[in-house]
Amino acid sequence: MERTYLLLGANLGDRVSSFRRATDLISERVGLVVQQSGWYETAPWGVTDQPAFLNQVLAVETTLEPEEVLNQTQAIEQELGRVRMEKWGARLIDIDIVYYGQLVLQTDRLIIPHPYLHQRRFTLVPLAEIAPDFVHPVLQKTNAELLEACDDANEVTSVLPGE
Ligand code: AMP
Repeated sequence: MERTYLLLGANLGDRVSSFRRATDLISERVGLVVQQSGWYETAPWGVTDQPAFLNQVLAVETTLEPEEVLNQTQAIEQELGRVRMEKWGARLIDIDIVYYGQLVLQTDRLIIPHPYLHQRRFTLVPLAEIAPDFVHPVLQKTNAELLEACDDANEVTSVLPGE
């Protein structure tokens, strides 16, 4: 059994209901969801006519191998994306594997820890909320320390349920 941290992201459609459906499917197919961060919104920059991104991190206890986790999360992305594909013409949810225990892995399909996690406040803020003391297996810093050191200028705002 390993604890994996998954980052959900969405900027199209009903983002919160996509997160809820993704979380249900993750708990059915990947493993027990033991922690969920709050929802965090990042204002889009560059292309400003886009809706804001919503992100959330889940901690999941899994018996699946990392590649099997990716197979499941990609299938879930496709299933949820298909629902309103005609209306939106884009994928509605993105699921990234941030950590898989202390595993360090680099294959053609999968890089763990996620290569950009320490550069992005939208990943570090929810991670530091639920796992501040978890140590990045390569950088050997905790999520709280990585957040403190991160110079990403994009503001990440907590969104309360119902907003
Ligand atoms: P994206 O479109 O940004 O979700 O990127 C998806 C691609 O990233 C897929 O082809 C995956 O095989 C690859 N990938 C590499 N490392 C990871 C990771 N840690 N989590 C999710 N996808 C990954």
